[in-house]
Amino acid sequence: MSQTRGLYWFRHDLRLTDMPALTALNNVASEITFVLSPLSHDYHWLTNENESDALVQTLSTGIAQRDFHDQCIEDLRHQLTLLGHTLITLQSNPVEEIKTLVTQLNITHIGCAEYAGANERRDLQQLKSALPNVTFFTQQAGLLFDHSDLPFEVNDIPLSFSKFRRVIEKHCKPRLPSPYFSQINNDLGGELEYLIAPPSQQFFGGEYAAKQQVDYYFMQSQLVANYKQTRNGLSGWDYSSKLSAWLATGCLSPRWVYKELVKFEQQYGANESTYWLYFELLWREYFHWLHCAYPNEWFRFTGIQGRQPSTHFNQASFTRWCKGETGYAIVDACMRQLNATGYMSNRGRQLVASCFVHELDLDWRYGAAYFEAKLIDYDVASNYGNWLYLAGVGTDPRGHRKFDLAKQAAQYDADGTFRQQWL
Ligand code: FAD
Repeated sequence: MSQTRGLYWFRHDLRLTDMPALTALNNVASEITFVLSPLSHDYHWLTNENESDALVQTLSTGIAQRDFHDQCIEDLRHQLTLLGHTLITLQSNPVEEIKTLVTQLNITHIGCAEYAGANERRDLQQLKSALPNVTFFTQQAGLLFDHSDLPFEVNDIPLSFSKFRRVIEKHCKPRLPSPYFSQINNDLGGELEYLIAPPSQQFFGGEYAAKQQVDYYFMQSQLVANYKQTRNGLSGWDYSSKLSAWLATGCLSPRWVYKELVKFEQQYGANESTYWLYFELLWREYFHWLHCAYPNEWFRFTGIQGRQPSTHFNQASFTRWCKGETGYAIVDACMRQLNATGYMSNRGRQLVASCFVHELDLDWRYGAAYFEAKLIDYDVASNYGNWLYLAGVGTDPRGHRKFDLAKQAAQYDADGTFRQQWL
């Protein structure tokens, strides 16, 4: 029998559980080389006239984002080492580097996850075209549903979240996650082990820490049972699940989260809060499929609606917003939290985005780009999707969302604790 040499290409799936393409590759390959795309950002829509040194500097990758990503990679490398494998980190152009490796190592099969992202789809297509003699195993790894599960063509996705949710809830059930890689492989060591004990109730990259947080939020603390009442909080760790950073880097699969949610419901009972966590995962799902349907419109000023907003780019106002110096205390506190930690609550994100578009009259894409550079949970679909929505050029039937910042501060930070902490 001729040798089958596999190569698995990690992109936004930095884990070893629920990896359908890796499972398929593993079933045929006698050995597998593991490679990883570098962390990169693409602001291809920026116009030359606005591309000043100050802007390039402002949009450099945030320290928290880089640290979190590095921790994810170290964890993945460690899990692979325990199973006797190594991980090669690609340096710049993954497609060119993989082509070279395929020749050098006589690779016959490649596995990788499929993504909605326009760049991710382009890279995979280029690789497939350049390597016609290589067999590819590609499958969805970051969503609850597969393409084939959807009860509509992606290009006919409903143009409102409510319609999408109703049709999905009627016709689809999330897929079950596939098992941990070493269990499929019958390798030694059947469980994940940590390299450095991850601190609990803090963002720390890697699959081990991700599963620790799921266990904490669901089973240990049972905080999920009150999620709907607490989810709009601004301060602290426990008001929401904090799973976004691990979902965005792919340390965690949403199918695995859903499986754990169902386990919680079976043990402690389902309620409107447990449903609401699923509801929020459907928002994430919606933005991913919507991005798939509108890959180019996603980054256009006029968005999905093709409507010209009255805002424009202004470097001085943009810098004030980025630094948390707008004069709106609630916005400034949120932005300083983002700059210091790489995270901001969902409520905070809505307020700073509303301020950006409606008070400072700025082109929404620059706010989205700043989030892209600094958020530890940056995800192209959820980030640009939410910004499009708030700027009134997405799919929101209400047109645009302008928040009364003083009223919101009084409601969500009534005693001023959050503002005091960050200002
Ligand atoms: P929870 O409230 O515990 O929600 C559970 C999960 O549901 C989240 O981890 C996330 O995966 C999903 N989710 C919740 N709300 C949303 C939403 N509005 N859209 C999509 N998915 C959602 N989320 C990202 O993951 N990456 C981003 O880059 C991102 N950018 C955003 C930009 C703006 C302007 C806004 C308003 C929201 C953005 N969000 C983004 C959505 C949301 O703010 C975060 O997912 C959430 O705050 C993360 O904290 P959590 O995990 O504790 O969320």
